[in-house]
Amino acid sequence: MDPVPPEPSVAPSVVPFERHAMLERLASETFDVLVVGGGITGAGVALDAASRGLRTALVEASDFASGTSSKSSKLVHGGLRYLQQGDIRLVYEALHERQRLRRNAPHLVKLLPFMIPILTKDGLIPRRVARALGSAMWMYDLTGGFRIGKLHRRLSADDAYAHLPTIARDRIAGGYLYYDATTDDARLVLTILRTAAEHGAAIANRSRVVALTKDADAMVDGAVVAVGAGREITVRARAVVNAAGVWSDDVRQLEDGVHPHSIRPAKGVHLTVPWSKVRNDIAAVIPVPGDKRSLFVVPWGPNADGTFRHTYVGTTDTDYDGPVDEPACTAEDVEYVLRALNAAVTTDVHPEDVTGAWAGLRPLVKSAASGRTADLSRRHRVSIGPAGVVGITGGKLTTYREMAEDTVDTVLERLGRRARCRTKRLRLLGADGYQDADPGTPAHHLGTRFGTLAPEVEELVDLDAALGDPLVPGLPYLRAEAVYAARHEMATTLVDVLTRRTRAHLFDRAATEAAAADVAELLAGELGWNAQETAAQLDAYRALVGREEADERAPAAS
Ligand SMILES: Cc1cc2nc3c(=O)[nH]c(=O)nc-3n(C[C@H](O)[C@H](O)[C@H](O)COP(=O)(O)OP(=O)(O)OC[C@H]3O[C@@H](n4cnc5c(N)ncnc54)[C@H](O)[C@@H]3O)c2cc1C
Repeated sequence: MDPVPPEPSVAPSVVPFERHAMLERLASETFDVLVVGGGITGAGVALDAASRGLRTALVEASDFASGTSSKSSKLVHGGLRYLQQGDIRLVYEALHERQRLRRNAPHLVKLLPFMIPILTKDGLIPRRVARALGSAMWMYDLTGGFRIGKLHRRLSADDAYAHLPTIARDRIAGGYLYYDATTDDARLVLTILRTAAEHGAAIANRSRVVALTKDADAMVDGAVVAVGAGREITVRARAVVNAAGVWSDDVRQLEDGVHPHSIRPAKGVHLTVPWSKVRNDIAAVIPVPGDKRSLFVVPWGPNADGTFRHTYVGTTDTDYDGPVDEPACTAEDVEYVLRALNAAVTTDVHPEDVTGAWAGLRPLVKSAASGRTADLSRRHRVSIGPAGVVGITGGKLTTYREMAEDTVDTVLERLGRRARCRTKRLRLLGADGYQDADPGTPAHHLGTRFGTLAPEVEELVDLDAALGDPLVPGLPYLRAEAVYAARHEMATTLVDVLTRRTRAHLFDRAATEAAAADVAELLAGELGWNAQETAAQLDAYRALVGREEADERAPAAS
């Protein structure tokens, strides 16, 4: 255990997280550092910088976490796979960060038990590798897995079957149980950003950097930012950080006109299916027949009786050279994931059973000798561009804090300043005083999304009981959460609310689409939309649904 007490956390919800006020600050103040990109990487940098006392700004072109950071496997983990690839340092650091996150954001980052089944025949992890797997489990524990307070253990065939009763009973020879953690990636990003705002950062979404400004020595000293409705503002900053993920080469091009082609995007998809098709009470790792990869099968949306609403399965890992703005889950991807799932379970899962899907792009750093993207390192790299922009690329959701620390250290060097990093023990908004509630209860639902800010949502229901109704029938989100998202979480579109502030669209696209008109009406009252704008918001969400459905039916061109 760490002997040093945690950094004091900030009082909940003191600073309004409100876009117009933030834009005024961005346009009028001079900052020490401007962060470009509001995914996990940029959010982490903003919090690190602001908590060290730097005057910090962050601008996000679209919505917070709308890039890769809402489309991950949602694991806070070391990654057993990276051990097998010999990247022990990455695993060690990631497991250390996992523990820090569990302490600093106990409301958002939850323990997740995993099982690797050992199956007897036909490809699914044969017995002869069980011993090797056992060694890998020990390695994982020793590399830092132990920090979670539980060591891996071997499961009997009966115990393994009980965790995944849709597997053929006669094929299962046992299994290994180990522990990692899970989080709602988009909410983690949002909470980090709100915490940064509490530390003084000025933050706005729908604010795209379109040009970089330079001083007399041709070094970058700010950015021109398009903030919507044809308006541009200039944000002045002594240092600029490029945290634009798979777009970072484009931002780097703004610096000197040269596109460095340094990022190799790797696409990964996940599918959601009804839990009844899998009935796993913990996460499982299943192999992909004919490929040297495995997929995670993660139960999602706990009910009070120990069952779940859904299970999601992923991820793929394929080279991607399409448009980075909208990676799609194709029919080939659906076929690949379901083939692996159906090789493990006996319930015969069809494409029509899929209730949701998402596709994201890993911003991997190209290496000279790169083969499959799955083999590329997940380590991060901090660089300095020709006109002084600090770039941060690569990495993982799990290691965002460490990435941010390295980045801000470099920023401080450039500014000729010193300030101790405080994020190792800095509790995120909603963490202080948080107590776990029983899974499947409303208190658990709100607690795991808002922590100790949950009473702010409950208060909305106290004032208007109708806001206590489900946002999307069959899913746990309340109408009050949409109102809260518009008032306090800078949600500005229907898509923001349905895909990121809540994850309704990822759970159950059809149910969410059926409720979308109601949600649009609810948001119209909050965001001042007239009938035309409300219809446009609904159209935009329906277009997203239509695109996804069409992509999943049509094989990719390449
Ligand atoms: C399928 C998949 C599964 C994964 N699973 C895991 C996992 O389980 N655990 C884990 O630890 N990691 C995981 N990862 C890795 C992790 O998700 C990524 O490393 C991380 O989300 C990248 O975050 P980012 O902030 O760098 O990029 P992004 O989230 O893409 O953020 C970059 C942001 O920059 C913005 N931007 C771009 N241009 C501009 C501009 N000109 N002006 C302003 N803003 C701009 C974009 O809109 C975007 O929001 C996974 C990745 C994928 C693809």
